[in-house]
Amino acid sequence: MTYVFPPPTPPSVALVDDTARFPVRRIFCVGRNYAAHAREMGQDPDREPPFFFAKPADAVVDAGVEHHARIPYPPLTSNLHHEVELVVALARGGADIPAARALEHVFGYAVGIDLTRRDLQLAARDKGRPWDWGKGFDHSAPLAPLHRASAVGHPSEGRIWLEVDGELRQDGDLRELIWSVADVIAIASQSVTLAPGDLVFTGTPAGVGPLLPGQTLRGGIAGLGDVVVTSTER
Ligand code: MN
Repeated sequence: MTYVFPPPTPPSVALVDDTARFPVRRIFCVGRNYAAHAREMGQDPDREPPFFFAKPADAVVDAGVEHHARIPYPPLTSNLHHEVELVVALARGGADIPAARALEHVFGYAVGIDLTRRDLQLAARDKGRPWDWGKGFDHSAPLAPLHRASAVGHPSEGRIWLEVDGELRQDGDLRELIWSVADVIAIASQSVTLAPGDLVFTGTPAGVGPLLPGQTLRGGIAGLGDVVVTSTER
């Protein structure tokens, strides 16, 4: 096989306990998965089936062993928002995965930030247009190093929080997830055949808000450590 130019190296992220890296295949994200966040977005938090959107795999920003990602403030927005999320990394794929078997497909977990150009996302939502430019832009998915499920288990409760320049903005608990990790994997696998390397961002608790140029956020989840993201000045 020859290529007309060299194919890019796959995006990858660090592990907390290994120099080997996790290759990222795709990034799937759950829309509203905490009732209080659904309400703050003006939506009904009733337990409708979860919906998904995607980011390009190379939107991931590996925070590395320093747990610190430095990102350029993105273009075409004046309202970049932070969303701290439990991120699931898959070691095994499949279609129509039963919820009762779904956790067997998990490689591990990490703290991730679903960065969102909220102005573009809401304009698209209100016009019935795709969310891609609001959600799937360059550097929109900073991720802390992965913890193996064999080491930390499958977190289903514990604090999930985020602060900006030291001020607490988001403060929730994984128990508030409307759809569990197992449910999310099972339901996603009904629409796409999941694959090793896929990441799933599982949704954010209430308190989303702006990350201004030059500000630094810190997000964390009990048992998974934290991630720091600094946005450059414009
Ligand atoms: Mn999100």
